[in-house]
Amino acid sequence: MTSIHAFWLAGRQTTGETTLDVHSPWDGRLVARAAVPTDAQVEEAVAAAYAVRDEFAATPAHARAAALDHVSRRLVERTEEIAQLISAENGKPIKWARGEVGRAVSVFRFAAEEARRFNGGEAQRLDTDAGGQGRLALTRRFPKGVVLGIAPFNFPLNLCAHKIAPAIAVGAPIILKPAPATPLSGLILGELLAETELPAGSWSILPVANGKMPALVQDERMPVISFTGSDKVGYAIMDSVPRKHCTLELGGNGAAVVLGDFSSDEDLDWAASRIATFSNYQGGQSCISVQRVIADASVYDGLVSRVVKAVEAQVTGDPSDPATEVGPLVNEEAAKRVESWVDEAVAAGAKLLTGGKRDGATYAPTVLADVPADVTIACEEVFGPVLTLKKVDGEAEAFAAVNDSKYGLQAGVFTHDLQTAFRAHRALEVGGVVIGDAPSYRADQMPYGGVKQSGVGREGVRFAMDDYTYERVMVLTGL
Ligand code: NAD
Repeated sequence: MTSIHAFWLAGRQTTGETTLDVHSPWDGRLVARAAVPTDAQVEEAVAAAYAVRDEFAATPAHARAAALDHVSRRLVERTEEIAQLISAENGKPIKWARGEVGRAVSVFRFAAEEARRFNGGEAQRLDTDAGGQGRLALTRRFPKGVVLGIAPFNFPLNLCAHKIAPAIAVGAPIILKPAPATPLSGLILGELLAETELPAGSWSILPVANGKMPALVQDERMPVISFTGSDKVGYAIMDSVPRKHCTLELGGNGAAVVLGDFSSDEDLDWAASRIATFSNYQGGQSCISVQRVIADASVYDGLVSRVVKAVEAQVTGDPSDPATEVGPLVNEEAAKRVESWVDEAVAAGAKLLTGGKRDGATYAPTVLADVPADVTIACEEVFGPVLTLKKVDGEAEAFAAVNDSKYGLQAGVFTHDLQTAFRAHRALEVGGVVIGDAPSYRADQMPYGGVKQSGVGREGVRFAMDDYTYERVMVLTGL
């Protein structure tokens, strides 16, 4: 019999009246069913979070850190089982799924470390002006209130971890909503959190149906929304609640720039292998996948032949096979969309250098050159295993090409030159510049987020903690 995964209502495992089927994107089998909360159960969770907010904010740092450390340790112990679950519901190749669990281990560990050092407070003398004589300002950060965390399907465990761990670290209650295609990896975090002493009500994990989300987004008891997903949904949320604090982690069309000084055989082999890996990594369904390769004319031909070879060497297939590097997309509809964008580009004159084939939900790693500027794939986030190649003359043209996008999440610049690195850091309109590698590098403690249509605010454990809290000053008089 297919198992039903209960949800977590105020720290308690509960089922509702309906369930959500979770299918494998690889073979379509029913992996499990996730229980869906009723409206009354969602209300109960929000009321419990709201009621516990002062108590949770006042819990000592050592207690919150101990809970976070516990989850981190338990994730290590249950790595294989959780990786299998991620791979089953998401279609992510098992080797990448294991890596995702490893990252969530780090996120909870970083949150434990940050919980211990956060909010030491800052004292500021005010007697620098006559009016402040005898006064001192003490500044500490306090939670803004209950957080509503909304997660996407593509990193179903780690992006839930990025919502919930910083909330616990600062003592902010959280209602976490995993994605409908992949609720099981988020729900499993509940099993580990339930083993801790965190106050009942301080966390709930609820696979609320999309249609019920607008009401939850409007709920004034949750002043903070931390959203990761598409720009369409993210900006609709922010526009609907202009007075709330919204962090939006949205899409991108990551560029990898290869400059003229990165020209030895060793350099080009490295750049090509990183580009091939990170344009196809989990079917290209990462917000910082390589979508655009922008190469100086002096290295273009050498790079292109290597990229095509490295892309063709990517092992595509069954995600449970340890050798597989590229699995299916989240569903067949997504693969058909990618196929239609590639077909449109080719019909408009783009050259298909490899790939371009679909088999069910799996799309073959694909390389396109000479892509006209006005086709969909040149303007939008493809979120599939496709990269486009562009030849430029020199650094200035390369940086202008990176910025010629409505997105601005991360960019990678392959160069050895430190001055160029600093110029790239200054010139590129993105949230992160990775020198010597693809744009797809993310360490979970560093500030992470975009500009332009890629979002607002930053994640990365301590930066999310800043977002979930605000500074409140206390002025001492008569000193
Ligand atoms: P999505 O926008 O379809 O869904 C994201 C979440 O929003 C899901 O939990 C979904 O159920 C929920 N949702 C849908 N409608 C809603 C509504 N009206 N109100 C509130 N919530 C609603 O995105 P997706 O397809 O799950 O994820 C893919 C997108 O996420 C891509 O664009 C990708 O680039 C982006 N992403 C960004 C980052 C980042 O950190 N910048 C990381 C991963 C993914």
